Amino acid sequence: MMQKLMMSVSGVRGIFGENFTPFEALHFASSFGIFQKRGTIVVGRDSRTTGETIFHAVVSGLLSVGCKVIDLGIVPTPTVLLAVKDNNADAGMVITASHNPAQWNALKLIDGNGLFLYPERSKEFFSGLERKIVYSAWDKVGSIESDYNAISRHIQKILAIPYLDLEKIIRHKFRVVVDTVNGAGGLIVPRLLKKLGCEVVTINCEPTGKFSHNPEPLAQNLSELSSAVKAESADVGFAVDPDVDRLAIVSEKGEIIGEELSLLLAEKYILPKKKGDIVTNLSSSMASDDIAAEFGVKVHRTPVGEINVGKLMKSLNSPVGGEGNGGIICPEVNFTRDAISGIAIILGLLSETDKKISELQNEIPKYYFAKEKLVVSSADIDRIMLRAQSLYPELKKDTTDGIKFVGDKFWIHIRKSGTEPIIRIYTESTSTERSELLCKETIGLLNV
Ligand code: MG
Repeated sequence: MMQKLMMSVSGVRGIFGENFTPFEALHFASSFGIFQKRGTIVVGRDSRTTGETIFHAVVSGLLSVGCKVIDLGIVPTPTVLLAVKDNNADAGMVITASHNPAQWNALKLIDGNGLFLYPERSKEFFSGLERKIVYSAWDKVGSIESDYNAISRHIQKILAIPYLDLEKIIRHKFRVVVDTVNGAGGLIVPRLLKKLGCEVVTINCEPTGKFSHNPEPLAQNLSELSSAVKAESADVGFAVDPDVDRLAIVSEKGEIIGEELSLLLAEKYILPKKKGDIVTNLSSSMASDDIAAEFGVKVHRTPVGEINVGKLMKSLNSPVGGEGNGGIICPEVNFTRDAISGIAIILGLLSETDKKISELQNEIPKYYFAKEKLVVSSADIDRIMLRAQSLYPELKKDTTDGIKFVGDKFWIHIRKSGTEPIIRIYTESTSTERSELLCKETIGLLNV
């Protein structure tokens, strides 16, 4: 039954009514409830129009195997992760397809530690998914409660970040435009900004799930925010994805400075206050290495996926980390990507440096990405990946996740797709031309 669903480390996703239906969500939730020993499960969802129907299916699945359900309502993903810990729950589920368009929905799985399932736990859960569900007896089915204060607690936790000088931020009376694409962010971002003394201009802040533009916070989707920042003479613009774990920043000039800068600016702010190694993924910018060098710390790189980053940050007691897709992880709040914490951190940086976003942007070393894909036949893919191993013998090689070759101020990362017969090539260097050339050269070497 579950083969059609697209599975990932953190859960399942699909297009509603096609490969993702309430029926499958119900089965999946029952399996997860049993996996979590029929304990207490926190459930939250983003604002998608299909969220409510999937929610009822998920709750039905959990109750039928004897779980106690705590309903959070519409909330950001990082809020659900926090609420699992706050409620001393055994696990959590988020109903969200993150940055995917409105026809998509998905389920993400959280463990009792308030983090997504570690890869080994995820594997264990998925391997039992085909097992027959043993429902609870009539007198053992579960019950449901609600907890509608999770957003307030999340805001309080951010305001309590010890190095954040709230008075300084409030004194600046920042003028801020925020675009939450009518996702869950509308329920939390304007509230936080008001607590930080900002004058807030909201666009797309109704949590209706009717996404006003493609919800991925990439430059090509943020023209409305960019124009509004200029028209409103704002100090900064913030865009988040529907489940509020990715943050993109627009400068006071209306320039979309790119998601990659979000993490780099956070590193700049946090490292002088709290020294320690940075953790990020293998595909995020090497500007992190320059920033780390400036503060005498190291960068540790993990496979792509926030759980890999969060897990290593936890074990290293790292003060800041995340992913280049606008995913800032601030351990004072939780070891998960959190755009709301990210916003507070960026305002902290603005208030303490007395600089504009465009000036801060110019202080970050400039590198340029390129990416290409090589479509191959399924029969050839492993042979080509094997050949990739022996390319560039003069460069440093990292095989943690695919193959990454690292040179002086450039790198080439070769990964095979988990779902299609495609090999992806990512590069970063000191110019776009060079990065594109590195992609082409690599494809040429692989494709002989
Ligand atoms: Mg997301």
